Formats: sequence, structure tokens, C-alpha cells
Amino acid sequence: MADFTTQVVVIAGGPAGLSAAVQAAEDGADVILIEKNASVGGAANMGMGPLAIGSSYQKRQMYDITVEKALRMIMEYTHYNIDGRLVKRYFEQSAETIEWLEDMGVEFEGAYKYFTKSEPTWHIVKTDQGIGPRAASFMNKALLNRAQELGVKVMTETPGKKILKDEEGKVCGVIATDKDGKEIEIACKAAIIATGGAGANPKFIKDETGYEFGVDMFNFAIPGNAGDGCRMAWEAGADHTRVRIEEAANFEGIDELPTSVPNIMMQPNLLVNLQGKRVMDEEEMQNTTFLSNAASHSKHRVLFSIVDTSIVKYYMRNGVDEISMVRFNPDVSDFMDGVKMAEATGNKGLFMADTLEELAEKTGINCENLLETVENYNDYCDSTDEEFFKRKKYLRPLVKGPYYAAAIRPGGYGTVGGIRINENCEVCDSEFEPIPGLYAAGADACNIYDDSYMFLLPGNSMGFAVNTGRIAGMEAAEYVDSEEE
Ligand SMILES: Cc1cc2nc3c(=O)[nH]c(=O)nc-3n(C[C@H](O)[C@H](O)[C@H](O)COP(=O)(O)OP(=O)(O)OC[C@H]3O[C@@H](n4cnc5c(N)ncnc54)[C@H](O)[C@@H]3O)c2cc1C
Repeated sequence: MADFTTQVVVIAGGPAGLSAAVQAAEDGADVILIEKNASVGGAANMGMGPLAIGSSYQKRQMYDITVEKALRMIMEYTHYNIDGRLVKRYFEQSAETIEWLEDMGVEFEGAYKYFTKSEPTWHIVKTDQGIGPRAASFMNKALLNRAQELGVKVMTETPGKKILKDEEGKVCGVIATDKDGKEIEIACKAAIIATGGAGANPKFIKDETGYEFGVDMFNFAIPGNAGDGCRMAWEAGADHTRVRIEEAANFEGIDELPTSVPNIMMQPNLLVNLQGKRVMDEEEMQNTTFLSNAASHSKHRVLFSIVDTSIVKYYMRNGVDEISMVRFNPDVSDFMDGVKMAEATGNKGLFMADTLEELAEKTGINCENLLETVENYNDYCDSTDEEFFKRKKYLRPLVKGPYYAAAIRPGGYGTVGGIRINENCEVCDSEFEPIPGLYAAGADACNIYDDSYMFLLPGNSMGFAVNTGRIAGMEAAEYVDSEEE
């Protein structure tokens, strides 16, 4: 005898799960949402907002981004290694999703680019504290309120453990454990898995991606995101698709320092590998996925961004070249305080030295090559960048100590992918046949970037979560309705 009975069980309360629960309930289904942690929101509580294509904000801001353009961009970017039907459905729904969120009280600052070359698809949630990290927690709160208003039963500290199927292979229940650790069974007709990937599970990351957490991968590890959804889906017969890290470079020890330090050290100045050689046009560093990829392909998976005192002073007087939306404070005047703090705390990511020779010794960069690279780079500052064709406006010579270097390593928001879904967010087996009553959404099922996060369309990750959550919710509601007949 089951402990609870409902029509749809949503496993997890991140943006994918919350959106799924709200949509399924709006479409008339009885819904129970179970969440492993004590509160809902998942990784998205740290983020700022979802992607949308063709929204009213973009139209008002006169940005010309259509579903056709975005679809072509992502298909070409991934060399067609992804499910175009799923992406199209997600993009097509995305503008209306912004209105759907607004209807439940979410407000947006507007549609933003993440960096100059990206498209303005990032719909940053408005808060009472201005633009900045954690803005999307306001969206999660609105989704939770709406779910509860619709009668969704939300059970926190209740991790899902197993999907149950009947003799016909249809989903018939979910096993979870309650707050006291007691096993409970929830009978249902459909289950939606949305557990946010496995960013906090080093073994899963190693097994699935080859990276070692804390050694050559410094991704966010959101407590609770341990790969449970992938495991449950695979055990229930889902096809196992490739899992990736949703890469975004990490400046080691960044969180311990004032934002002025990363704001200066992540500007497009000289970037070298351990061999003392440049690896890219540093302007592209703003796309932190590209930067993480470049670090991944470098010796010991590390790169160093280097500035001298005159560059630091220039930024302190005039502001930085590129303002980060994530570290929105353009004031970098306390950089030297940050340096002192890094020295006092033994910060592992920031190095200081009076000479380039000393900097090479401290960082392990090949000294001879570094000196040659800096000499050539300084020449390019007077002429053109013959090596990587960086634009003149970003070419600033390194002439005066002290010098500062930041260690940049592969990082990411967590894992994406693992569960095969189709454009209806139905979980499919290796024959691409849907498992009746089983749906997945968000990071667990996000197979749409191929080997690199599509940061040219920012908000793509939370956008995928919210929109696939909605798709899974509407499809599950329709399925349970048809099963009742
Ligand atoms: C610092 C940071 C900033 C970001 N900023 C942005 C941004 O601005 N825009 C953007 O597009 N993306 C952003 N992202 C990525 C985005 O947050 C994620 O892609 C998105 O949250 C994924 O949604 P999800 O619902 O799939 O998973 P999550 O948000 O991670 O939620 C997963 C939920 O599942 C729960 N869970 C896990 N296991 C179980 C279980 N067994 N049973 C029940 N519940 C379980 C977890 O506790 C969690 O609540 C950011 C990520 C980080 C880390």
C-alpha cells in the first residue's frame, strides 16, 4: 500500500522541477514535488536568469534575435550533434515563458548579453538589490508560491530514490525517503526527473567526464546535485547519453577576494600557459566556456592572466575594459586591498612579484619563454598582434613591476546530460522509444551543447531548465489524463 497517491511526481525543486510542477498543475494534474534539500531552487538560486528568444524585452530594446537565427547558431556551433527538434521547441516556447513567469510575479531587468560577442538572450531577474548573483532565487520563490497556490504538495528533505514500473513497463510510483529517513512510496502515473546533474559528486564526474574535481576541474558543487536523477532514469531503462561539464573557467580562490581582483585579472590582457606561450586572442576570454576549454587543453590544465602595475593603475583610474554582469561593481579601486588579502590568506590563485623572473618562479611558468612572449607582446602593442590578432584597444604593454598573475583553470556550473529525452521531454530507451510515464528536464537531460556550453546565447542553461520543465509538465499532465480515460 502506497504512502501517498497522486498523478504526477516531480522529483526535485530546481527551476526545471518547479516549472514542471506548476505547468502540470495548471494543466489539471494532481502533483507532488519531492526535494532532497531543505529548500527549493537548486543551482539556480545562485544564477541570474533564463534565456528567451523573441521576447517583448528584446523587441523593446530593438534586438533582432529570432528563433531561426538562434536555432541556426546552436546547430552550427554543435555541428548538428544535438536534437534540433528539442531545441526548436524550447526556443519557440521561451518568449512566452517569460510572460508566464511575469504572470506569477517575476520581474525582469531586461534582456542582456553576457559578453560583447554574445546575443542579448539573458533575461536577468529583477530584485530589490539590483543586478547581481542570486537574482534568480526570486524567480524560484515565485514558482514555489505558484505551485503551492495550485495545490502542489511540496515535500522537502525527501530525496527520490527509485522509479517503479508496472508489468506493462509504465511508471506506477516513486520510492523516496522522508525527513526521518523512512522509505516512502508515492503511487503515480507519471514521474518527472529534474535533479540538476551531478556537480557535487566527484566520482560521477570522474567516471563520466574524466575530470578530477579539485584537481583539474573546479566546478560549482551545489549540495544535493549528486547524479541521483541520471541513476534513477538509467535503472528504469533510459538511454545513457554523454555527460559533460557545463564549462566556465575558474579563477582559483576567486570567492575569497574582493570583486576588484577578478574584475581586473579577467580583463583581456596577456594570457600564457606554463610554457610561457600565448594560446588565444585574449578578447575571447570573456566567453568563459572558451577560456575553460583553452585551459583544459593546456599543460597541467592551467593558464595565467598577467598584468603589470601600469595596467592596474589604468583600470583603477579609468575603470575596466569589460564590465562583468556577474561582478557588476565597476569600482576596482580596492584592488591593492585585495592583493594584501590574498597575501595574508595564502590565496592559491593570485601571484605577485616585482619582476617577471620572480613571477615565473612563483607560478612555474617557463621563464625564458615568458620573457620572450612579453617582449613580443609589448612590440605588438606598438604595432599589431601578429600572433593572435587581438584588437588594438585590448593591447596594453607589461613594463613595470610589481606584476600580478591569476591562475585560471577549467571550471563549470555542474554537469549536463545523461538522460535521453525527445522533444516532448519523454525519457527514451536506447531504441529511442519513450518509457511510458517517465519524463526528464533540466540539467539531467540537457544534451544540447555537444562538447561546449553555448554561451553565445546566455541564459541557455536556466532557459533549458525552465522550458523543458514546462514541456515535461504539460506532456505528463496530458499523459495522465489519457491514462485516466
Ligand atoms: C553560480 C551559478 C550561476 C548560474 N547562473 C546562471 C544564469 O544566470 N543563467 C543560466 O541560464 N544558468 C545559470 N546557471 C546554471 C543554472 O542554474 C542551471 O542550469 C539550472 O539551475 C539547472 O536547473 P535544474 O532544475 O535542472 O537543476 P538545479 O537548479 O541544480 O536543481 C536541482 C534540484 O534537485 C534536487 N535534487 C537532487 N537530487 C534529488 C533527489 N534525489 N530527489 C529530490 N531532489 C533532488 C537538488 O537539491 C536541487 O534542488 C548558474 C549556475 C551556477 C552554479
